[in-house]
This record gives sequence, structure tokens and C-alpha cells, in this order.
Amino acid sequence: QSKSLGKNMFHFHSPELTLQAQRRVEVERELRLALDAGEIEAFFQPVIDLDTQKIVGAEALARWRKSDGTLVSPMDFIPVAEQTNLITDIDFSILSQACHQAKSWDEDGWGRLRISCNISARHFQRGNLPREVQRVLEASKLSPEQLTLEVTETVYMENIDQVRGILESIDEMGVSSALDDFGTGYSSLSYVRSLSFDVLKIDKSFVKNLPEASALALIRAMLGIAISLEITPLAEGIETPEQLLLLRSLGCRLGQGYLFSPPVTAAQFVELLKKQNAE
Ligand code: C2E
Ligand code: MG
Ligand code: MG
Ligand code: MG
Repeated sequence: QSKSLGKNMFHFHSPELTLQAQRRVEVERELRLALDAGEIEAFFQPVIDLDTQKIVGAEALARWRKSDGTLVSPMDFIPVAEQTNLITDIDFSILSQACHQAKSWDEDGWGRLRISCNISARHFQRGNLPREVQRVLEASKLSPEQLTLEVTETVYMENIDQVRGILESIDEMGVSSALDDFGTGYSSLSYVRSLSFDVLKIDKSFVKNLPEASALALIRAMLGIAISLEITPLAEGIETPEQLLLLRSLGCRLGQGYLFSPPVTAAQFVELLKKQNAE
């Protein structure tokens, strides 16, 4: 009797919704524990000068390394984190790891590599971001010129003036800013211009379809926008030599992609630098 009553009540609250909410709370709790245990690790994908094909920097990308050794993709935990304040702590942890890493690569003689970190739109809208970044720079002693913060187009959908203010403070600190996933979101060109980004990252969904004529036309247009606004273009997701050749011939100076390397651990990144030096 009581069992069937329980079932009915559960049903009344809609099983899917309840399960979904429960799952989210669970992932959130696991994620908090993971962060405290140091399981959220920065991987690094080389940024390549397409003319010289040398590594000039790296993008830091979050990975969740579970205690059993499995690696969880950011696609599986960043969206959950973005629904809570956890995203702020994750961004901050990756930023801090990346800045310390770049400083130690410099001290080890690998030169002043540029490091790029993703900042969630949610985190970006918090007024104290510039102060937090300042603190990380001080703690790591990294030169601000070596740091770029990446944000996606959703960042300016709300409160454009606050976003502009934050970008200006960051710029005054000597830190660069990049517009990530350009072309996939809410691309108001007047915003792109007024927010004075330093780097424009052409989304990999466009690069993927090269050398298809329509992709070629879109990329040519995007490069034209970047060049005329004096923003350095960077192509994401370069996978083939043909894509590399096309992008170079269209005037794109920087790129990332599996053709060069996937995101790797800090130790593996040093191996890439060694290999490049040996060549
Ligand atoms: P994103 O910032 O646009 O990063 C580029 C993604 O493209 C990365 O996926 C990278 O591994 C992948 N990629 C690089 N080269 C290639 C290629 O040649 N082909 C293909 N198909 N993919 C390539 P990843 O590492 O899974 O990260 C996914 C997204 O998660 C990132 O997209 C970023 O939006 C977010 N993310 C990662 N780390 C952080 C973080 O610390 N904070 C925040 N807020 N978001 C992060
Ligand atoms: Mg990015
Ligand atoms: Mg991107
Ligand atoms: Mg992307």
C-alpha cells in the first residue's frame, strides 16, 4: 500500500525532471570535490605561427582527471559548472595553473610563450575579474603581455557596458583578449569592433569544411573583417595540410589544430618544444 503511494507521488513530480535535477546536483558535488582534490588539470594545445610553423604559445584547456585515471572532456563538465558558481573556480584554477606553467617554461629557457585561457561568459560578467587576474599575475610573476583571455560571443549578450569596462581594465593591465568561436554566435560586428579584441578565433566548424567553396568564402570574409579591424585572426581546428595552405594563402597568421597537436599535458608540451628545437 505505502509502496504504491510512493510510486504515485514520484510520478506526480515528473520522473525525468527529478532525475535530471538529481543528476545535476550529483555532478556538481563530484565536481566540487574534484576541484578541491586538484583533479581539474590544464592541458595545453600549441598555437602555431602558420608561416614559420613554430609554436608561439598555447591554449590552456581544462580536463578532469579522475582518481581512476579516466579523463573527462570539458564538454561534459563545463556546462554543468556554468549553471553554478563552480565555473568561476574552474576558470581561476586553469588560469593559475597556466600562468605558473608559462612562467616556469620561460625560466627553463623555452622563451616567453603566450598563454591563452578560456573565461566563461558567466565569470566574465563579474566585476572583480580584472582584480583576480591581477592577483594570478602577481602570484605567478608572469608578464601580462604573455596572457590572453578568451571569451565567446555570448559574453556581450547581456550588459555590454560592463563587459566593455572589464575588457578595458584587462587591456590597461597589458593582458590581451580574444573572441573565441567567432561566427557561431551572436556576431554583431559593431560589438566586435567596439570591444577592441586583440585576437579573433575563427571557429573550427568553418575550417573543418575547407576547401569547400562556401567555407572558403566565409573564412575569406571573416579574415577580411579581422584584418580591416586590425584584430589578429587565428584559425581553430586545422586538421589537414590543405587547410593549412589555404589559410596561409588567405593571410591567416596563427592557427591551432590536430595537424600540429591535440591538447596535451604540460610534460608532453615540453616534448613538443624539444622536438621543434631539434629540427
Ligand atoms: P574552445 O575554447 O573553442 O577550444 C577548442 C576546442 O577544439 C578544444 O576542445 C580542442 O581540443 C578542440 N580542438 C583543437 N584542435 C582541434 C582539431 O583540429 N579538430 C577538432 N575537431 N577539435 C579540435 P576541448 O578541449 O574539448 O574544449 C571544449 C570547450 O570547452 C572549449 O572550446 C571551451 O569553450 C571549453 N573549455 C575548456 N577549458 C575551459 C576552461 O578552463 N574554462 C572555460 N570556461 N571553458 C573551457
Ligand atoms: Mg578557447
Ligand atoms: Mg574556440
Ligand atoms: Mg570552438
